[in-house]
Amino acid sequence: MRKPDFLRLNLSPRCGAKTRSGRPCRSPAVKGRTRCRMHGGAKGSGAPQGQANGNYQHGLFTCEAIQGRRAIRELIRRAKSTLARLT
Ligand SMILES: [Zn+2]
Repeated sequence: MRKPDFLRLNLSPRCGAKTRSGRPCRSPAVKGRTRCRMHGGAKGSGAPQGQANGNYQHGLFTCEAIQGRRAIRELIRRAKSTLARLT
């Protein structure tokens, strides 16, 4: 059964950043991010990606490189499980 809108809003992921009172922030997190608009979730917030970032060195840990390794590991995992089922 579909809940009324005011209840569904409460189910959205929360920010959880530590506030000045010491309790976690209860504001809703910005879509696609883990923090609210006040705690680093705002548009344009955060460090630049890839070579634009001052800490960039060789590109082995860019989002794309990590994603690629993850995809290869998943492929190997599936191949192994397929082979295990055949033998
Ligand atoms: Zn927050």
